[in-house]
Amino acid sequence: MNDLDKKQDAAWVRRLLEWYDTNKRILPWRSSPTPYFVWISEIMLQQTQVDTVIPYFERFVQRFPTVSELSGTDIEDVLKVWQGLGYYARARNLHKAAGVISDNHNGIFPESAVELQKLPGIGEYTAGAVASIAFGEAVPAVDGNCLRVFARFWGISDVIDEPKTKECIRSRLAGYVSEGNPSGFNQGIMELGALVCRPTNPDCGQCPIKSGCMAYEKSLTAVLPVRKPKSSVPHRTLFAAVVWRDDKVFVMRREYDEMLGGLWRFPNVTVKPGDETSESLGKIVEEQISFRARITGKYGQINHAYTHFKVSITVFRCEFNEGTAISSELRETLVNVAWISLEDVEEYPFDKASLKIIDLIRSVDFS
Ligand code: SF4
Repeated sequence: MNDLDKKQDAAWVRRLLEWYDTNKRILPWRSSPTPYFVWISEIMLQQTQVDTVIPYFERFVQRFPTVSELSGTDIEDVLKVWQGLGYYARARNLHKAAGVISDNHNGIFPESAVELQKLPGIGEYTAGAVASIAFGEAVPAVDGNCLRVFARFWGISDVIDEPKTKECIRSRLAGYVSEGNPSGFNQGIMELGALVCRPTNPDCGQCPIKSGCMAYEKSLTAVLPVRKPKSSVPHRTLFAAVVWRDDKVFVMRREYDEMLGGLWRFPNVTVKPGDETSESLGKIVEEQISFRARITGKYGQINHAYTHFKVSITVFRCEFNEGTAISSELRETLVNVAWISLEDVEEYPFDKASLKIIDLIRSVDFS
């Protein structure tokens, strides 16, 4: 390619940067793009819409304004502020990474994408985003939005979920990112994917890079990108026990290394098909809570969808049977269990399904 061809080939970069400059949304982390703010926002934005993230981001940085304040905080407080945002491993990794930055880097962020990727919870995309936006490193940040935009722009019909397709797009973008300012380049692509080159019905008429876009020119916007067919989402049936002792209910905290680790929940058990009787609930008391309880009613059912499966949880009301504790386990794991009143709920981080159970308990009157 001669110099003139190269210049014309990269003309889309200039148009993208100009468009971003005029059309970018005012977002709380953009007004002061410190490494800390960019990092927190990028982690929160994974799998989550901007509108959902804004109030969480504002609360989070108000509560933990610096890396050192985040690292010096108990993980339970971090999970409480994160409660409702989902994908809780992100919060646990933020807390871990803050500890590493404080302990191993004197509280100063590593500046390169390569070094950033060594921190817990920071993958190639987040490292590229933080390094380019906060430090101006010329490195691409390739997430699902970016893959969609460039599968269309370059007319790539390979499955975009495949690592080799992602690598192909990433390495092509690496040749352009230094053409303009890397921060504007990556944020321009993010903004274009969010506002114009949307998953369905892209607004090609408003697109700054429509000239040169293969999908637009060949009317392939509804066909590209090509994705792997989705596998069906499994469904699980659970029983949960809301065990009352006087005016308090029994709750337990998940181990930190399991799914939703560190969050509180009610005892529950997965029910096999054909075993959907309330007797299955007996297993809960034997296996999980070390004392016997008797069922006194049914609150109803809640449904919840996680990323990889859905659950239906039938929620039973139970009474603690005093004097029939069946092991000493309760004493050994005391730190992970608690009897709390419904007024105390706000002090404990619960996962979303458990919050739905709490709403259900509050809505049913057994008196
Ligand atoms: S022209 Fe349309 S399909 Fe091409 S990048 Fe722009 S919005 Fe996406």
